Amino acid sequence: MPVTQTPPPEPARDCPLCPRLAAFREQNAAKFPDFYNGPVPSFGSTEARLLIVGLAPGLKGANRTARPFTGDYAGDLLYPTLKKFGFSRGAYKASPDDGIELIDCRITNAVRCVPPQNKPVGAEVVACRPFFAAEIAAMPKLEVVLALGGLAHKAILATLGYKQSALKFVHAASYEVENGPRKVMLANSYHCSRYNTNTGRLTTGMFEDVFTIIRDHLDGRA
Ligand code: URA
Repeated sequence: MPVTQTPPPEPARDCPLCPRLAAFREQNAAKFPDFYNGPVPSFGSTEARLLIVGLAPGLKGANRTARPFTGDYAGDLLYPTLKKFGFSRGAYKASPDDGIELIDCRITNAVRCVPPQNKPVGAEVVACRPFFAAEIAAMPKLEVVLALGGLAHKAILATLGYKQSALKFVHAASYEVENGPRKVMLANSYHCSRYNTNTGRLTTGMFEDVFTIIRDHLDGRA
């Protein structure tokens, strides 16, 4: 008999836990009333084996569309890469009604609300951690957690009970980590942000190298 997974708890639409982010949300709701302007829910099935962890929604991207990385510059590299490596089907059109489906993959953010200047502060990452921890707990088949950037890497370490200094964030590194009684792979990639791709810190090839590691792991080749 199929087991129905309980969805992880989502932050309230008007989550008050981070005063700075709540104030920014109100400003944005006044300025951009057609935007979603709330904590962006995760995307993809909790039955997936891969969880991708971003930083936080972009103001005019995920904060507008209510789907992680959707409409954000970073999504223009992430979504085609997912398709190339068999983690999605359909054509990404930067809109939540483009009909794409994720395959064996879920996407979340370490911080669910858009922060000013795209920079969440430490207390906000901590305040949002229970929602992130619930994501991990709700994924019974989880095998790989991909950290997009150092902040996501640190949020994952803290959530899994590791010291921040335990494992260094290194592009294309992968570590075996304990997730309760199970082991999962923690993979690292530089964030696919506009800044990183425009400065050449992250190239398409470098990003695909990380997905090759993940695909090989999930397919039992490494
Ligand atoms: N959009 C997201 O949803 N997350 C990021 O980390 C960047 C852009």
